Amino acid sequence: MGKYLKECVNQLSKTCSVMGNAEGDDKPFCLSYNEVEILNSPQRVIEVSIPVKMDNGELKVFTGFRVQHNDVRGPFKGGLRYHPKVNFDEINAMALVMTIKCAVADIPYGGAKGGITVDPKKLSQGEIERLTRGYIRAVADFIGPDKDIPAPDVYTNPQIMAWIMDEYSRINGKNTPSAVTGKPLEVGGSQGRGTATAQGGFYVFESLLKELKLKKKNITIAVQGFGNAGMNFAKIANAGKYKVVAVSDSKGGIYNKQSLDIEKVIKHKATTGSVINFEGAKNITNEQLLALPINVLAPAALEGAINKKNTGRIKANIILELANGPTTIEAGEKLYKKGIIIVPDVLANAGGVIVSYFEWVQNIRHFYWDKKKVNDRLKTQITNAFNKVWENTKHHNVNMRTAAYMLAIEKLGRALKIRGI
Ligand code: NAD
Repeated sequence: MGKYLKECVNQLSKTCSVMGNAEGDDKPFCLSYNEVEILNSPQRVIEVSIPVKMDNGELKVFTGFRVQHNDVRGPFKGGLRYHPKVNFDEINAMALVMTIKCAVADIPYGGAKGGITVDPKKLSQGEIERLTRGYIRAVADFIGPDKDIPAPDVYTNPQIMAWIMDEYSRINGKNTPSAVTGKPLEVGGSQGRGTATAQGGFYVFESLLKELKLKKKNITIAVQGFGNAGMNFAKIANAGKYKVVAVSDSKGGIYNKQSLDIEKVIKHKATTGSVINFEGAKNITNEQLLALPINVLAPAALEGAINKKNTGRIKANIILELANGPTTIEAGEKLYKKGIIIVPDVLANAGGVIVSYFEWVQNIRHFYWDKKKVNDRLKTQITNAFNKVWENTKHHNVNMRTAAYMLAIEKLGRALKIRGI
């Protein structure tokens, strides 16, 4: 079992023991240890080989995965990742996390995740399109609007979702936009989906500041990862007059202790390919970014960024997990003991899947909402989730990750019991 998966499974059993030991009339509904075994194992795992004709005429075979973790609360739902480090264990762990996240966010989905082991930066657009279509042909029997709905993740984007929608529609014999979310607006995408993960993270972040009675003018933020989640969060926070003092991408980071102008950094990245060498800021490494004297650290790249090697150096008081699994459990526990608040991924980045759900609903109803309606509904949905997690944190004296897992396990447990395990 991979490290990330082991951590997710440990978090499940740890949460169950907290729930089992809770006292009083409002004792949470919990599954027994044996019943929790159901959540430790995915319902279905799919591994496929995808032959792709490359531009130079050669044939290359790629490996793809789809793990369908649990669908007791609704169809499987989860992103599709293209990355050279994609492997079965990682996808398996992220599928489990999706089951928890959809329950925390209170949307009627189960959890899944997919991925292809590939470095898309080395492929042409044509090769990425053929790879994507090949993957969909390979998994088509197992996905669909009522079965399993993919979405973007690391190094996949709305264009790739459009190819998925097109390939699935061809196989299905009819236009089927609800088969995938995160599509461009022209083919059934939702207003606000592109920024939903960051926007949701921002609503959660502001709810937390309110609870902690912290003033905006004293807050400094560093964001690791400058893609969909990280860049948009930095942009929204900066537009909301928060000081975003550092950002980074895979090539390195930049720091200006007064504040960065994120709109300008976005333009700089668009022309140079990276945030580094931005005028008026100092170049730093990703490790240096994690150790900056700031209030809020928002990891928005890959899992395991905050681990036992660097926990001792972290000075932030709040970690907002925009990425999936950026803090190892061991590191998280050490930070919790030091009084650092970690807003877990299953809450902090749930905005993406919430608006994916809105997109799916709009596709099924053929009735589209404006951006204000999407963002208002997102705010209500994610703030409700935050309030419930926060309540659990206070009531059971646990960290926010355990509080969020408690909320999810209770919902999953009830659904499993009612359906008849
Ligand atoms: P993305 O591909 O748009 O961006 C990833 C960013 O991380 C890029 O800027 C890249 O340069 C940077 N990066 C890669 N390796 C890095 C490293 N070693 N150090 C620092 N930066 C690095 O991906 P994304 O969609 O923004 O996803 C980022 C994280 O957020 C992932 O963990 C993903 O699972 C999670 N997430 C994304 C969404 C979504 O809707 N996009 C939803 C929920 C969770």
